[in-house]
Amino acid sequence: AKTHGPGRFEFFDVKLRERLQRRLGLEQDLRRAVLNEELWVAYQPVVELGTGRTVAVEALLRWDQPVLGAISPDEFIPLAEESDLINRIGIQTLRVTTQDIAEWRHEHEVPLQLAVNLSARQLDDPDLLVTVEQALRRADLPAKALCLEITETTLMRDPVAATAKLKALRTLGVSLAIDDFGTGYASLAQLLRLPLDILKVDQSFVTALVDSHEAEGVVGGIIAMAHGIGLIVIAEGVETAQQAGILRRLGCDQAQGYFYGRPESSTTWMPPEA
Ligand code: C2E
Ligand code: CA
Ligand code: CA
Ligand code: CA
Repeated sequence: AKTHGPGRFEFFDVKLRERLQRRLGLEQDLRRAVLNEELWVAYQPVVELGTGRTVAVEALLRWDQPVLGAISPDEFIPLAEESDLINRIGIQTLRVTTQDIAEWRHEHEVPLQLAVNLSARQLDDPDLLVTVEQALRRADLPAKALCLEITETTLMRDPVAATAKLKALRTLGVSLAIDDFGTGYASLAQLLRLPLDILKVDQSFVTALVDSHEAEGVVGGIIAMAHGIGLIVIAEGVETAQQAGILRRLGCDQAQGYFYGRPESSTTWMPPEA
């Protein structure tokens, strides 16, 4: 009974207040960060499992907060989502990344693809198509060089609306990926209806690969199913040669993870050997 005494409630109260304060503080800071351009984009290579060639890079937002240091996008993207900030951040990210990759393609004459994450609010934004089209035009980047990643959970919030939105985006010529696959509850029937090009197998499945035979069966099944409906499969969070070997044997097309390269700024990001 002692552990349920008043001291404990007080403890939770303090914790809760700290969390709320951090959140409120961060939300205000984020607003300032966007204005000051404190946010920057890291790029992580996506590698073809057969050849080891880098075929794409995923843009991942970074925020170096002057006092608290690096804040994870898993923390600040949801904050931005609760306000109007996500639209500003989303537009800026599309602009900067399409320009970076267009420049890079021009210099190296390699048809590198760019993957950009879209949040739920962005998918709902009626201006999304115009935003994407403008970014591509300004950067002079062909639409097929851009892949938009949307999580399974976001797509499953309202599958009918999502399908319509994806179809519209597709008319621009961009490719579309379902992200974090396996963490949501998409049925095969729903998956068939979504106009997709790429399926990204969530990191949790890749991590389970080495210890569990069942995981291998599940990932093999996902890959076969995805191939059956014409999708390219990317495994996320590949950290070891052993995981890469299993994925290659299972017929996975591409992989991404610390084993191949960490997300880095475009200035430190090493171009793949031509
Ligand atoms: P995500 O789209 O699933 O991105 C993959 C995450 O896994 C990234 O985390 C990446 O740094 C991390 N990762 C890659 N390889 C490995 C690995 O081998 N091991 C481990 N442990 N992790 C690995 P990050 O950069 O912290 O981003 C987290 C999430 O934040 C992203 O997950 C994405 O959902 C969101 N996010 C990031 N940038 C943006 C953005 O520009 N817009 C939106 N809407 N969301 C973003
Ligand atoms: Ca992603
Ligand atoms: Ca993912
Ligand atoms: Ca994730």
